[in-house]
Amino acid sequence: MPVPASGTARLLAGGQSGPDVLRPMVDTVLNALAHGAADRGGPLPAGGPAAVARRIRGAARPLIPDEGEGPHHALRSLVRALAHGAAEPADPRCTAHLHCPPLAVATAADLAVSALNPSLDSWDQAPAACALETLTCRALAELVHPHGLDPDALVTTGGTESNQLGLLLAREAAQGAPLRIVRGANAHHSVQRAAWLLGLPEPLTLSTPGGVLDPVALHSALDQPCDAPTLVVATAGTTDTGAIDPLPDIADVCDHHAATLHIDAAYGAPLLFSDTFHKRLHGLDRARTVALDLHKLGWQPVAAGLLAVPDGAALAALAHHADYLNADDDTEAGLPDLLGRSLRTTRRPDIFKIAVTLRALGRRGLGELVDHVCAAAQHLADLIEARPGLELHARPTISTVLFRPTGAPPAAVAALRRRLLHHGAAVLGRAATPSGLWLKATVLNPHIQPDDLRGLLELVEGNTTP
Ligand SMILES: *Cc1c(COP(=O)(O)O)cnc(C)c1O
Repeated sequence: MPVPASGTARLLAGGQSGPDVLRPMVDTVLNALAHGAADRGGPLPAGGPAAVARRIRGAARPLIPDEGEGPHHALRSLVRALAHGAAEPADPRCTAHLHCPPLAVATAADLAVSALNPSLDSWDQAPAACALETLTCRALAELVHPHGLDPDALVTTGGTESNQLGLLLAREAAQGAPLRIVRGANAHHSVQRAAWLLGLPEPLTLSTPGGVLDPVALHSALDQPCDAPTLVVATAGTTDTGAIDPLPDIADVCDHHAATLHIDAAYGAPLLFSDTFHKRLHGLDRARTVALDLHKLGWQPVAAGLLAVPDGAALAALAHHADYLNADDDTEAGLPDLLGRSLRTTRRPDIFKIAVTLRALGRRGLGELVDHVCAAAQHLADLIEARPGLELHARPTISTVLFRPTGAPPAAVAALRRRLLHHGAAVLGRAATPSGLWLKATVLNPHIQPDDLRGLLELVEGNTTP
């Protein structure tokens, strides 16, 4: 039997010797992360895409050497280059997207998953992960649907997949009738794409001049004669502004018209953890399906999405059979059947880092993080209002703040944003609203301080060209 090129060195992360093999490599990774962060010295690398690509070419070559360079050399050079060239969400000046700084505890938990590599397409690849996923999904689903018959949730890669599943379940419930989908113009682009992917008719899009779906406009739209079953998609925390649609009123309109309600709470759902803000989600539990992400306001490394339902029986439409994974006799003998819990086959237990985080911080601990970033967003809005050179779009609903140099036209806002990116000074997002283009700060950093917020605004003012 030929010996692998590495000779007698242990290669594998798992098994009894795995931890001893991993420990020095993890040490190398952690050192390289620190060096790369120091090389970068800010929220993102300076010089734009060309400078980053040049440095990566230098660090990554040879890409496929004939002879390997060994784990430490490869880790040192590539981890350092990755960190040097990262947009670092843990830096308070990196506050553009729903791109959160992950909690150290969740990242550490994810290492265990990488070492053990359980796969949730069959019980015999992931016995404990399967049992833990069942419990944790139910516990999270009960937060969303406390009065549900048998609340359950599926783990997804995020809001995009959750929205797809929401539409798919509605399509299956329609039993072959064409589905009418009604959404606000403020809904996430993935809703449109899911309809396209699933072969559903183009959604009817209601304009949202006030930033949220108007129940009166929805009522009129649903009053139009139509034989098709209807799915209404509402949003709790829009990606552009963090606005929350008036959920109870929308749920009433849906009830009146016997329409099904899907709520995309990818951003907003973790407000449920907060003693202060959970009331903002009043009405969420009236949705048939709810999308929520914990890789946004839940501080998880990607991916950590869920689709919650009040009654797990609603998931039966996803049942699927493959003899090697869920043979009937295996299922009858008591082996859990996992194939109907995702459209994916091989599936990483993303629930594990979530379960560890929930235990480590508790509902209250997570709620306090939510409270902190929401308060920081309010403070940022105060600071903007106090500066005549800056204009605030609206008071924040969750933790998203839109602003711009007072009166700045769209091209100037876009150029300012790119200037900050190019200098590696700050990562701010952009959001187009009926009143033009805005800079977007999505505050997700639980360590952010008033001085950081002031510094961010000074950067914007200092890079504004009159
Ligand atoms: C982020 C987001 C999505 C998409 O979620 P992914 O996790 O990126 O797939 C969908 N809807 C809303 C409202 C979002 O903010």
